[in-house]
Amino acid sequence: MAFSYWESNEWLEDVDLLVVGGGIVGLSAAFRAREMHPEWRILVVEADPFGGGGSSRNAGFTCFGSATELMQDRKTLGDHAALELVRQRWNGLQKLRATFGDLALGHQASGSIELFPSFGQTTAPSPSELADLNSWIAPALGVPDAFANVPVQNFSQLAEEAGTTAVVSRLEGMLDTGKMNRAFRTRAYALGIDVLHGMRVHALRCESDNVSVTVGVGPDRQTEITARRVIVATNAFGRELLGKCDVQPAINHVLVTEPMDDFDFPHTVHMDAGYLYARPVGNRMLIGGGRHWGDDDSTTVKKLKDTLHALWPATKNAGISHQWTGVLGVGENRSPIVREVQPQVVAAVRLGGMGVAIGMEIGRLAAEKFTTN
Ligand SMILES: Cc1cc2nc3c(=O)[nH]c(=O)nc-3n(C[C@H](O)[C@H](O)[C@H](O)COP(=O)(O)OP(=O)(O)OC[C@H]3O[C@@H](n4cnc5c(N)ncnc54)[C@H](O)[C@@H]3O)c2cc1C
Repeated sequence: MAFSYWESNEWLEDVDLLVVGGGIVGLSAAFRAREMHPEWRILVVEADPFGGGGSSRNAGFTCFGSATELMQDRKTLGDHAALELVRQRWNGLQKLRATFGDLALGHQASGSIELFPSFGQTTAPSPSELADLNSWIAPALGVPDAFANVPVQNFSQLAEEAGTTAVVSRLEGMLDTGKMNRAFRTRAYALGIDVLHGMRVHALRCESDNVSVTVGVGPDRQTEITARRVIVATNAFGRELLGKCDVQPAINHVLVTEPMDDFDFPHTVHMDAGYLYARPVGNRMLIGGGRHWGDDDSTTVKKLKDTLHALWPATKNAGISHQWTGVLGVGENRSPIVREVQPQVVAAVRLGGMGVAIGMEIGRLAAEKFTTN
């Protein structure tokens, strides 16, 4: 079945910028392009009805990294590059909140805690390690005391298995991922950016001054369109269109309990250097991650449930009401890739586990790669 004249003429022709992928990065790139070029026809093509990547399936942490995760980043990236990453996450979070407002995002300044349970894979940083971390991170966050050691007994609802010391990070928070996605889409429409859901880009071919793009809805309804420029913001799926590129998909499992009477736990929780995370969703608890265990899917889900029950005894009597997977884009290190891969094609992929924070910054950088009209 071919596209109609009306479909083609109204949506698919004369495209100045085509963005592939309607997640945080793709839509943020479209917003920035609109700011710089009010006259451009901008089309975002997204394969999934909701935007099926990390942006619609994440845990909603507004975070810049737990203490142990950042300690690892300093080792793998070096102090300078790791600090730059924190700065981008922090700036991205401020931009996200300033653009949409906390109400539209369902944002809560909850603070986070990092736990070191007896069965976990990390140990609490010593006071001198924490002091060193605080002085290293202060220029990015503008405060001298981002992290602090606090006794676990200060937090209600947690079991003894949670260990004795937690690291509190008061600048972190959480949002409602569904509301955030709605806010992104509402803004796109308000800015006159076309967003087509359920349409997939199958191939890109660079020609002398534009890009020929094969788009389609299912196998029988495909067409070639031309765009003057393309941003590939497909995160974990970057390789499908870009070929050689250091990004691999990594599955994360997420579980949410049924509501629990009298359950009130206010903070987000990091464990195992960011590989394991939990947060409240009203009077439910969410837990996710676990890919560092290296287990099959059903073992990972079982271990997530066991962890939830061991740390929050109240959850033992609550069933799991929602369970899903989401895909992270990971690679050699935690820095996203933003690069012009052809004269008219920019890649903005490999967002890893903190794309809610860094996504708007990466989208902006991608749009700014096109220096000419
Ligand atoms: C389970 C989970 C929990 C997470 N929790 C957090 C968190 O709490 N805090 C945080 O900061 N980050 C979190 N993240 C990471 C964060 O969600 C991502 O880094 C971020 O959403 C990436 O945004 P993106 O726009 O780059 O990619 P995505 O949101 O993955 O968007 C890429 C889009 O491209 C589309 N696409 C792919 N190929 C094509 C194609 N050929 N044609 C058209 N469309 C295509 C996909 O459908 C997808 O919607 C989590 C991720 C997961 C998976």
